[in-house]
Amino acid sequence: MTKTIESVAVIGGGPAGLMAAQVLSAAGVGVVVYDRMPTLGRKLLMAGRGGLNLTHSEDFAAFVTRYGAAAETLTPLIEAFTPTDLIAWAQDLGQETFIGSSGRVFPRALKASPLLRAWLARLADQGVEFRTRRDWRGWNEAGELVFETANGGSETARPDATILALGGASWPRLGSNGAWAEVLTARGVELAPFQAANSGFDVAWSEVFRTRFAGHPLKNIALSFGARTVRGEAMIADYGIEGGAVYALSADLREAITKNGAVTLEVDLRPDLSRPKLADRLHKGGAGQSTTNLLRKTASLTPAEINLLREGHGIELPKDAGALARAVKSTPITLRAVRPLDRAISTAGGVKFSGLEEGLMLGAAPGVHVAGEMLDWEAPTGGYLLQGVFASGVAAARAVLSKR
Ligand SMILES: Cc1cc2nc3c(=O)[nH]c(=O)nc-3n(C[C@H](O)[C@H](O)[C@H](O)COP(=O)(O)OP(=O)(O)OC[C@H]3O[C@@H](n4cnc5c(N)ncnc54)[C@H](O)[C@@H]3O)c2cc1C
Repeated sequence: MTKTIESVAVIGGGPAGLMAAQVLSAAGVGVVVYDRMPTLGRKLLMAGRGGLNLTHSEDFAAFVTRYGAAAETLTPLIEAFTPTDLIAWAQDLGQETFIGSSGRVFPRALKASPLLRAWLARLADQGVEFRTRRDWRGWNEAGELVFETANGGSETARPDATILALGGASWPRLGSNGAWAEVLTARGVELAPFQAANSGFDVAWSEVFRTRFAGHPLKNIALSFGARTVRGEAMIADYGIEGGAVYALSADLREAITKNGAVTLEVDLRPDLSRPKLADRLHKGGAGQSTTNLLRKTASLTPAEINLLREGHGIELPKDAGALARAVKSTPITLRAVRPLDRAISTAGGVKFSGLEEGLMLGAAPGVHVAGEMLDWEAPTGGYLLQGVFASGVAAARAVLSKR
């Protein structure tokens, strides 16, 4: 087959774009990575502040279910770039990984900067050119890519193929501001509206609780909503509640709030103890103690947890051991609203898969492929986001290569 693809523009220098650039440049294609920010990978660096959860070690069949409605579409992409491939890729860049508690995979350095530094050096070695401070604005009438430059000027490019990896719309100060949605809509690309994913929720805490306990963790709890129960941690925030277990339910919670206005999340503060066992302990330890002391000594509840019980069940907690155990095993919290998108960990919505052809190519713009968080999928935290982002970057790049 004759070689028709010699130059590729990758727009967006986050993990999806850089992964696409790596695959393409390794195959000898000339790649220019454009980004509107002065430096690349800013959101990846931010993810590194939380240790950089790269992927997850769980069984593949369970892994792919984390992508919910997009699982079927993303499965072949993740089969083609698996968690094992991701770990090998990190090791190849000198970053050993380890499996942390609950099966999450992290680099030993527990941050993104060494990985990003090694990665950018590798890409430069492979001949990738970086053009930062280039804000992509769409196409001109001649079909060229148009970028606004830092000094208010503009620059055009006519590559043989383009990969858009522009990210979602959360944390816009890190670069991905979602402005591409307008450009693609004008081009006839169908988008699902952006929504906050892996975000916190507003709760109308009492003033006392908010002031005293914002920033306190709720460890080893179980949260239930609808038919789903998730074990993990949450964090009390001054505005409400956030954290891994909340994020895991956030897609369902967000949809229910959109429909019903407010929803009730049930918290089990002692998921390892059955209700009868807990009731028995409370009964035996009860004589002559205040409820606070009883809960602290017998059920090891922290002051934040005891006061959360009061937020959910009222100041006067039940005296009866059975009723008190029931309260500990099921405290209702009313979630009133999803936190705004700009502080969410990720973005749901984006380019709909139905408008894509083979290899993540836009039906409305042949030769233009899309990767990463700008696609319409979401996943909980746990490494599933970066795995999906990397795998889609690989898929878009391989699709471009397949046309040579
Ligand atoms: C606080 C936080 C913690 C996180 N922790 C984790 C974690 O531990 N594990 C995990 O799996 N995920 C985590 N994530 C999510 C993960 O970082 C993102 O899913 C991932 O960075 C998305 O990659 P991307 O390449 O698709 O987009 P991005 O990383 O957002 O990169 C997009 C790039 O495109 C550029 N761009 C956008 N528009 C334009 C334009 N018009 N012209 C030129 N350039 C443009 C941006 O400047 C940016 O550099 C976290 C996110 C946050 C905010």
